[in-house]
Amino acid sequence: MFSKLVVAFALIGIMGFRAQAQETELQRIADALDVSTTKTFQFTANGTMYSLGQSTSPAAPWPRSFVKSMTRIYDFTAGAMRDSVVRMAADSLPIGGEQQAVTVVSGDLAWNVAGNAVSARLFEASERAHQIVISPHGILRAAFANNAGVAKKTIEGREMTVISFTDRGRHKVVAYANDQNAIEWVESSYGSPVAGDMKVVTYYGPYRDFGGIKFPTKIIQYQDGKPTLDVTVTAVSANPPVNIEVPAAIRNNPLAAKSEKIADGVWYITGVSAASVLIEMKDYLIVVEAPHGEERSLEVMGEVKKLVPNKPIKYLVNTHHHFDHSSGLRAYAAEGVTIVTQEINRPYFERAALNSWSLAPDRLAKSKKKPVFQTMGDNMVLTDGTRSVELYQIVGNVHHDGIVMAYLRKEKLLIEADVFSPTPVGAEPPKVPAPSALNLEANVRRLNIDVDRIVSIHQRVVPYSDLLTAIGKKPPAPPTK
Ligand SMILES: [Zn+2]
Repeated sequence: MFSKLVVAFALIGIMGFRAQAQETELQRIADALDVSTTKTFQFTANGTMYSLGQSTSPAAPWPRSFVKSMTRIYDFTAGAMRDSVVRMAADSLPIGGEQQAVTVVSGDLAWNVAGNAVSARLFEASERAHQIVISPHGILRAAFANNAGVAKKTIEGREMTVISFTDRGRHKVVAYANDQNAIEWVESSYGSPVAGDMKVVTYYGPYRDFGGIKFPTKIIQYQDGKPTLDVTVTAVSANPPVNIEVPAAIRNNPLAAKSEKIADGVWYITGVSAASVLIEMKDYLIVVEAPHGEERSLEVMGEVKKLVPNKPIKYLVNTHHHFDHSSGLRAYAAEGVTIVTQEINRPYFERAALNSWSLAPDRLAKSKKKPVFQTMGDNMVLTDGTRSVELYQIVGNVHHDGIVMAYLRKEKLLIEADVFSPTPVGAEPPKVPAPSALNLEANVRRLNIDVDRIVSIHQRVVPYSDLLTAIGKKPPAPPTK
């Protein structure tokens, strides 16, 4: 009895000592970055970034942009972050134009800002929130909050401090600090609505003194084994004023579905920056496109049920694997809906389906269903004798190697994503035609299909003549009044 007590006390003593040692170890690393007094932080950088989920095929690298300037600002107490980037596309056409991008996250809400316009990007919230957790300051804050494990490990002859934890049950993080108390690299994962557990590796260093503030001069990141970021930090600021307020449009159900009948038995379902199209067949329904994550898919399915209460959705047509177009696909697969896509997209979706977000399983993972795919080469027809939906690969398009459009012959409707972006109402046509729009028109001629209206997944429904005007084949229509 006595000896058991002694052992117990001794164990408590050792464990207490260990906990203390871990705390001091963590504290030392945190102190090197002034974590306890840093509530907000900002860095400015330039270099290269890569657009996650936008590769020209599932096997290709994330497309590259040259970053003229990137300013990232964190509000650690609010769990908010804003990136303001000026960049130029380096791999995709047209090359050279400067683009401004402002992307924001606050808690579980994410949105983009373009001028005065705000658009919801909730399906990207997990990725953006993860960037806060794996930032040098964020790691230490989260390590304390989540009782991180701290261990010593010799890696390539150097003794490293390994900090590991799961942040709020969502983000898995293992960070490696060197004997200078500097985090050198981080291996982590977050839940992607397309790809499930998304593996991230981030390298920091070498650290420099920026006017009394220690911070890495380089940040290099990989997601899913491919580069996403490679920047040189040029300036930092500790505790700058930050005001990241969630816009009302984002706070109040930004995923709610609206619909508009565009032909008999055809509805355009809008409400987010990428629409879906519902097509009513004799005994079943087809939905084209599942953007914006599971929640949005549930909103769209709810709207579909209101529009056509008595028919099941049989097919979900995915135009291409880009994350803004495919992040709601898993919710349909969970309902047993057959996913129709071009064959190059299938292996990616299949792998993604097996790799669900293990920390927060979605409906597909919980359903334990194996997604059912029906893939096409350059064409496929979904028909039930009363109506035919013709699907065509948009061959040779620079946007994506396996991109699909849908054509309704009777209605002369063409449903397309990304290859033609109608200009805002009243705007001048582009001076240089977009290569992907030229290619779309070439495909329409190749297929000899008669198109009356284009249903743009990202924009609106426009007359076919808008495409001809945009590529310089037809003068702009005269004003209507
Ligand atoms: Zn795309």
